[in-house]
Amino acid sequence: MYSCNLCAYTTDTPNADDLGSIKGNTEKYLNRSFSLWRCPECKTIHSLEPVDFAEIYADYPLNHTRTLDVYARRTLSNLLKRLNQGGLKKSASILDYGCGNGIFVEFLKQQGYANVVGFDPYVEQFKQQPSQQFDVVVLNDVLEHVEDPGALLDAAARLVRKGGLLYGGTADSGGVASMKQLAKHMLRLHQPFHRKIFTQQKLRELGHVRGYTELASYRRSYMDTLYPFGNYRFLDEFSAALGYNMDLALKPESAAIVGKKPYLLFYAFFGYFFPSADEPAVLWKINS
Ligand SMILES: [Zn+2]
Repeated sequence: MYSCNLCAYTTDTPNADDLGSIKGNTEKYLNRSFSLWRCPECKTIHSLEPVDFAEIYADYPLNHTRTLDVYARRTLSNLLKRLNQGGLKKSASILDYGCGNGIFVEFLKQQGYANVVGFDPYVEQFKQQPSQQFDVVVLNDVLEHVEDPGALLDAAARLVRKGGLLYGGTADSGGVASMKQLAKHMLRLHQPFHRKIFTQQKLRELGHVRGYTELASYRRSYMDTLYPFGNYRFLDEFSAALGYNMDLALKPESAAIVGKKPYLLFYAFFGYFFPSADEPAVLWKINS
């Protein structure tokens, strides 16, 4: 039985066109294939084989090797700019829900936001479950990592004080044209970590049905900036050049490949104008 938990669609006999498979993009899963099914109704891509979350996150490369370098700062500035559009004050209490190794927490503190905490059940330093409410809760690149994004949204919204803000940004399934040609989408599919990949429309709908007030909706990735090297297309091309091995892409010495492949330099500077994937996001006001 194939059932979509982001709409009511179920079937015992999925369309062959809606089935696909793709390898993982971290060292551990580089040679393992994962089955995907796209719901024909809402276009959510589901990763089918169940995973043990503690096991897959035990050595997740983004949780230990990502650093707050100049490029990360530029993309995170973009994320902060979006929160500022909702009237974020320096004194605001902020929770980065699913914070990974905490680089956004660290970035916000450096920018003068003193009241910031992170939560991530798979990172020792941040695994303390928050119990109080916050002015702002950020769910960036987290909704796609769980089996039930709606339940995660509910859990995050409960941590927002009445009238506070909730930001949700996620991977996009809308740009995947064919389930038979998934190789170029390895970065956004990010198997087996991305469990549910859905559309901008679905993200907006998740907030709408819960009565959240939509303050802003974004299609482009927060990582898309005009700064050299600060765009999604470059990241995508850089990853492809390294065989989509994320562990390798995060090693400082891997940067040398840019000098050997001139097209990478082209995308470093102009990638913003040639996006390879969107990353929908919504800023909501929580009224209850
Ligand atoms: Zn569906």
